[in-house]
Amino acid sequence: TQVIGDRCRILLKISGEALGDPSTGPLDAAVLTQLAKELVGLRSELGVEIALVVGGGNIWRGTYGVDIGIDAPTSDNIGMLATVMNALALQSAIEALGQPVRLQSAINMSELAEPYIRRRAVRHLEKGRIVIFAAGTGNPFFTTDTAAALRAAEIGAQTMMKGTHSGVNGIYSADPRLDPSATKYDHVGYMDVISRDLNVMDMTAVTFCKDHGIRVIVFDVTSPGNIARAWRGEIGTVVD
Ligand code: UDP
Repeated sequence: TQVIGDRCRILLKISGEALGDPSTGPLDAAVLTQLAKELVGLRSELGVEIALVVGGGNIWRGTYGVDIGIDAPTSDNIGMLATVMNALALQSAIEALGQPVRLQSAINMSELAEPYIRRRAVRHLEKGRIVIFAAGTGNPFFTTDTAAALRAAEIGAQTMMKGTHSGVNGIYSADPRLDPSATKYDHVGYMDVISRDLNVMDMTAVTFCKDHGIRVIVFDVTSPGNIARAWRGEIGTVVD
């Protein structure tokens, strides 16, 4: 979290798969509403300025296209469009609760979203609006983790909260679902993540965060209430 005067600003990355439910499909209304409620609570009760980056993996990943003969940059473009679909759904769920929200896309789609303009995004945050950044970085060969790190740096949020759908709150020595002796790390260094290949987020994003001093909090976003818990430091693993 970045404290700006008496303000606090976060960049929250939500993985695409956290927006759906395997039994109902890529997007689930109840899941979206739950997430929206948590975000509105953080915004209105705790006064946190919230910027979001959403993934697209519940709909499409670059690797899917490559498997069926679509060239990699085109398949990545499809993936970025998937993040826009998710962002539209999340925007709608947040707006339904009466919370002002703006969507900015890294790929121009003026009928659906504002273009990404850093200074305008910051202004929205200052006015208490939630801002959703869609279409990743706007470039193929990147991921939304890297987009989240980039946007965090751009808007001056020194912490990126990475909400996964892993079902485990943070980084463990081994997969706790398979190995009961696995221990959770409260804190790991960027270099530990890189050298031990801890598989928390993609290496481009880790390297970017390391170079720009962006702290990462990894936590499971799929349990209700976890966003505020992670924000308060009660759950998750800090990477810095
Ligand atoms: N993507 C891209 N450039 C970006 C961000 C995303 O090309 O800056 C594409 C990439 O193909 C990726 C897909 O969009 O596989 C979905 O994003 P991601 O895998 O990061 O979503 P998540 O796993 O967080 O749901």
